Formats: sequence, structure tokens, C-alpha cells
Amino acid sequence: MRLVMKFGGGAVADGGKIKAVADLIRRCKEEGKKEMVVVTSAIFKVTDILHENAARISKEGEVEKVKEFVEDLKNKHEIAASEAIANKHVLSMVKKEIKERIGEMEKALIGICLLGELTARSLDYIVSFGERLAAPILAGALQSAGMDAVHLTGGGAGIITNEDYGNAQLTRGAEATIRARIMPLLDGGKIPVVSGYTGETKKGIITTLGRGGSDYTATIIGAAIDADEIWLWKETEGIMSADPKIIRNARKIPYISYAEAMELSYFGASVLHPRAIEPAMRKRIPIRVKNLLKPEDKGTLIGEEPEKTKKAAKAITLIENTSIINIAGAGVRSISDVAARIFSVLAAKGVDIIMISQGSSERTISIVIDSAQLDRAVGAIQSMNAGGTVIRDFTSNSNVCAMGVVGAEMAGTPGVAGKVFSALGKEGISVIMISQGSSEFNISFVVKKEDAYKAAQAIHDVFEMGV
Ligand code: ASP
Ligand code: MG
Repeated sequence: MRLVMKFGGGAVADGGKIKAVADLIRRCKEEGKKEMVVVTSAIFKVTDILHENAARISKEGEVEKVKEFVEDLKNKHEIAASEAIANKHVLSMVKKEIKERIGEMEKALIGICLLGELTARSLDYIVSFGERLAAPILAGALQSAGMDAVHLTGGGAGIITNEDYGNAQLTRGAEATIRARIMPLLDGGKIPVVSGYTGETKKGIITTLGRGGSDYTATIIGAAIDADEIWLWKETEGIMSADPKIIRNARKIPYISYAEAMELSYFGASVLHPRAIEPAMRKRIPIRVKNLLKPEDKGTLIGEEPEKTKKAAKAITLIENTSIINIAGAGVRSISDVAARIFSVLAAKGVDIIMISQGSSERTISIVIDSAQLDRAVGAIQSMNAGGTVIRDFTSNSNVCAMGVVGAEMAGTPGVAGKVFSALGKEGISVIMISQGSSEFNISFVVKKEDAYKAAQAIHDVFEMGV
């Protein structure tokens, strides 16, 4: 069996956990899983810490504080290495490597500090150190437990991307490079340990794949080497029918299709990196989301699903902190012209649109966005009237929550939408906006913030999700 296994955030949070991960990998090996590629995230919240501190350092401009920060980060990694790696020789090699990487990071941070400027490119370079420091530690833990492991950066593993810093895309031909770099290692009986989240441009400049990008690293590699399965290890049950913090009886979803999982990750369920499904789907490679706290559990299987387990609606998600903007176009313009202008001004300001709906009789368009982007969006829409009146009127409301019901069997099953909205009606919840993608994998709607949890529970109950 050829397996790609990714260990995320909490799973490699500290040295003790990294050691436990190494034991788990050894057990997999003993059970006869012959070829394994391991992908790791950064240790304890290091990506967040790097993001925050890079920004702070570029503003403050105090070199002394850079040194303090760097020292602290070095200690964190050295402690993790000492806890994870028993073998003295291996430990000293890994510590040497940590020291080198930290030295490079310090130089870059001092540069940023002195210039007082943080570009997208230098931010990617800085935040990449999280994963680039974690991989040597995990590889060291595997070596210390008697396995032949080698660590690689994302770029070293062949993840060659474009220059879209912070959200880089894989380039054409990268798959062949990945295969050429990874296969000889597997053929030689080695376990490659790859830094997740990171890539490299053709010129060798470091990029990142977007937050949570280690999932994506794992599926890119899985597709490139034609893995039998991809296992994403987390410290959660798997993919859930709803957020268990909100819905008491939320349950693990045992099977979910690629399209449904994609829909879920786009619609607020932060279980997977949004682009992570695509490479696996293209090659029809099953993905398992597995729980590190219950390794025997099958977790959630993303892939082909047995007919008998199919359900009309599988999960309900909500995106909190959303705002709705209602726009009425001037009478002289066609609605499509107004829509085109709205979307282009919003795109130019980098506003991300979550939902769109257009009334057919009234000349209005409603869009839902993240509330953090509301000021920017309103400014952009106001600016549209500069060259003559396009917008007659617009209003916005931040007191709303966008929700999505996801399930592939909603396509062609009459009455699903009826069931959703009558469940809401019974609870006396009024629906502000509705939209259904033509894929019919997702019915999304907007309710008042104070109604959101009650709405989620009502829908979860009526479809017996997670039973
Ligand atoms: N460390 C990165 C992040 O926190 C990538 C990942 O965890 O998958 O976003
Ligand atoms: Mg992380």
C-alpha cells in the first residue's frame, strides 16, 4: 500500500505529540503499509505566531526585540526536538539544523525590521519556517525510532508554484517533478517527511499554499505519486454533521463524496483546505480524515460511497460574522450590467463574495460577505456612482448569519428545499435570502444572527443528520 499521511496543527503541537506520531507511523509500517510519505504542519501555533510577529516587527523596527523573539522560537523547537528524539546523535544533528534555519530566519526578520516593510513575498518566506522547522524534528523522531526517514521542504519535494504569494497555485509539470523526487526515496525504502504548506517558484523563491495548506500538500503529493490512500490526521473525530460546539448531537459523517466535502470546506466548515480535494478527486484517491486520539477509528472517508448510506442532506454549516448588502440598480441600466460592475469593483478591492442572489422582478442584487470586509465593500460600491448613477440605492446589515445545507442527494430529490424551509418556519425563523448552486449540492440561506443556532438545530433534527 502506498500512503500519504499528513499530521496537522494539534497532532504535532509539541515534542511529546511528535513522539506519539512517530510511534503511530512505526505501527503502520509494522502492519505492512509499505510505502509512506509523511507531511507535517508547524508545531504549536507557530504559523500564527510567525504571522503576527512578522507584522509587528516590521512596524516596531526594534532589532533587540527581533533577537528576543528568535531566541524564544529557537527554544520552543529545541525543547520539542529533545522531547521527541531519544537518540543523542540524531538529536544533535537536528539541533544543528534548527540553529541554521533559525539563523536564516533571524537575518530575514532583521531585514524586515530595518526596512519597516513586509511584502507578501517576504511574509511567505518568514511563515514557511514553521513547517521547515517541524519536518527535521519529525524526521529525527522517526530516525530515532529506527526508521529511515529524510526530510524535504515543499519545494524540495517538487511543489513548484506560481508567484501568488500567500495562496500559491501548483504549476503545470510540477506533478512530474514531485514524482521524480519522491519515488526514488520510496523505492529506496525511505520515508520522506515533507514540510506542508510550503512550495517554491521556478526561481526557488519560497511560497505558501494558503492557511491550512498542509492538507493540500498531502493531496498534491498523493495525486502525483498515485497513492492508494491519503490520510489526514487531526485531533477531531473526522468531518462532522455540524459544529459540535453548536449542535449537541452532531456526529461524525462516515462517508462523504468529493463534491460534498468540497462544498463543505468552501462553506465555512474549517475541516479541510478548500483546494485539497481537487487533486485526490482527479485521481479518484480516497481521503480519510482520521482522529489521532482514536487511531483505530475509521474516521471520515471522502471518496466513492456505498449506495445504502446515502442521505439527502448530510451536514449543516454556518458562517458567522457575515454581512448582507442589498443593491438596487438604476432603472436605465440592465441588471446584468450592474451585476458585472458590482463584481468587478468588489474583486478589485479583494472582497470575497460568499453568496449571491438576484431577484427577478425587482432590480436588486443581494450579496453576502465576511463582515471584516464590509467597509471595503461599501466603499467600492459607493465609488461606482462616480461616472454616472449606476446604483439607485443600497443597504447593508451585519446582523446576519449565512448557513449551508450540504448533500449530493439533494440533486434530483424533490422536497429537500421544502423540508429545510418548513423546518425553519416551524421554529418561527424568517429567511432573509436564499441561494442554491446549480450543482444542488448546497442550499444556502441567510437568517438573523440570533436565529442561527436554532435554525441549525432544526435542520440537523429534521434530516436526522449524523444518525
Ligand atoms: N501551518 C499552516 C497553517 O497553520 C498550514 C497547516 O497547518 O496546514 O495554516
Ligand atoms: Mg497549522
